[in-house]
Amino acid sequence: MNKQWISHGGKSDITIVLSSYPSQQEEYAASELKNYLDYITSSSILIGDQNTSGPVITIGSAAARLGVIAGKELGDDGFTIRTVGDSLAIVGGKRGIIYGVYEFLEKLGCRFFTPTCEKIPSIPDLELPQLNDTQVPVLEYRYHDYTDFMRYPRFAVKSRLNGTMDGSTPIKEKFGSYLSYVWFVHTFEPCILNPNEWFDKHPEYFSMVNGKRVKERTQLCLTNPDVLRIAIEKVTAALREHPECRLISVSQNDWGNNCTCSECRKIDEAEGSGAGSLIWFINQIAEAIEPEFPDVIVDTLAYKYSRPAPKHIRPRKNVCVRLCSIESCFAHPFEICNDKSRQVKLPDGTTSSFIHDLQEWAKVCDRLYIWDYTTCFSHYPLPFPNWNVLQPNMQTFIKNNVKGVFEQGCRAIGGSTDLNELRAYLIAKLLWNANYDYEKHMNEFIEFYYGQAAPFICKYITTLTDKVEKDNIHCFINDNCDRADLTDDMLDIYDELFDQAEEAVRDDPIRAVRVAKARLSIRWVRLKKNAMLKGIKNPNEIHRFFDDWRSHGLTRIDEWVSMETTHRALIEGIWRGTSFYKNWWDEGPEEL
Ligand SMILES: [Zn+2]
Ligand SMILES: [Zn+2]
Repeated sequence: MNKQWISHGGKSDITIVLSSYPSQQEEYAASELKNYLDYITSSSILIGDQNTSGPVITIGSAAARLGVIAGKELGDDGFTIRTVGDSLAIVGGKRGIIYGVYEFLEKLGCRFFTPTCEKIPSIPDLELPQLNDTQVPVLEYRYHDYTDFMRYPRFAVKSRLNGTMDGSTPIKEKFGSYLSYVWFVHTFEPCILNPNEWFDKHPEYFSMVNGKRVKERTQLCLTNPDVLRIAIEKVTAALREHPECRLISVSQNDWGNNCTCSECRKIDEAEGSGAGSLIWFINQIAEAIEPEFPDVIVDTLAYKYSRPAPKHIRPRKNVCVRLCSIESCFAHPFEICNDKSRQVKLPDGTTSSFIHDLQEWAKVCDRLYIWDYTTCFSHYPLPFPNWNVLQPNMQTFIKNNVKGVFEQGCRAIGGSTDLNELRAYLIAKLLWNANYDYEKHMNEFIEFYYGQAAPFICKYITTLTDKVEKDNIHCFINDNCDRADLTDDMLDIYDELFDQAEEAVRDDPIRAVRVAKARLSIRWVRLKKNAMLKGIKNPNEIHRFFDDWRSHGLTRIDEWVSMETTHRALIEGIWRGTSFYKNWWDEGPEEL
């Protein structure tokens, strides 16, 4: 067969074709395809209509002329890319059609690393490849909240993320939209019953702890019939107000103190978990709203005291359980880590590990989502040695029937260090396909993003992971800078690698900035350790660190307080700025 060119000799040999009535997502997909193909080939590819003759790349329903139709099995997110004779068909669901275009571009060698770093090859003579590829993601809900993805919704689409949360810029309909929640996690207090409003009149609505109803850091008394009635009323009202939403989170507040009144305790003891009374409560809400909202899923958290699965009660088919791994170690995969220090306590006093809880939920829950953690939240710059954990843990989720994953990361408005651009890229890839060639993608990113410094960045990563693996050092999400893999000797090794990395990119100003940004992690650990453990506070070094931190556009160092409060904590010799407040969230959300 003769070669078919997309572009040859500076002239395009193919036309992108839309149907007569394209969807807005198809139009966007076609325009993205044109923009990138033009850039790759340095020619101008035309977008034509159904009457276009000759070789074509059809987008969406226009593919019918080539005999390719998007089947129902593709869902909203799947796609097919198929060469037919001298033409190519790209079909897919609402988002899938856009993802299909990006997949095609990736097959041509494009890489969408960050919103400001894309690798686009220059191929003036570009041949139409022979392709036949269908992809449908296992995970229906894929999200992480690294800043680049929250603030750049079009980049989130390129990375095939389809979730959202408070503070992120929503993905517009024309870009494929997203799975939207009416309320999003920890909603008992803000959305159902606020104790400041209700406790004095109705203490019985709230948790009984050690024999007393509590107002502060409380939960709901889930067996109180009035609480159930009010919850159903509020959920119904919220869903009527947001008919576009298919998910609503009815979930415990962000602390312990579940109700231990005799009725709640009876269920929890029989079920062997705080999830007993919770699922009993959620099931009744889900049943009550089902006739009016047959497509809505009521989502709740299996978090802390409710993490272990109940023994007998089953979540209804319109209930989603979002299991949280917050207590876990992230230096070793869930299936391997032998840390027993942070297991969750059951009502009978025994304990349970995350991996066990995951396996138990997988057996009883049709729609299991995960809330997982991928950075250090007390010190965002702290090296988080989870590089060999991300893939096995994602595979463990998939193996256990998980349908949606949220990977919580650094959402500071200014972004973050600790190689988080790389981490965010890899996580997005894993959310799409947990079995992809992780190492290949990692190397591609590092080689392009860090240029000549790549070997030293790779060595830095393997040094971090070797240390926690060989010495069996467990790492948690709120560690301080005194962790056993961050000894002075280890910091010397990391610094030496960064010396070499900086030297390697001395004549490459863009990559030199990236290396300098990555190095801020080690600088922060040294600064904080020196202040806390040795009483050394060198004003020049501290001043320079904060100057540099700001210069890279970075903002928060700690999830819950401003850079200024973190600075104050450093000067006053306190591990975290949250200690200045009664509640860790009191300083309020980050504002620019
Ligand atoms: Zn109760
Ligand atoms: Zn561990």
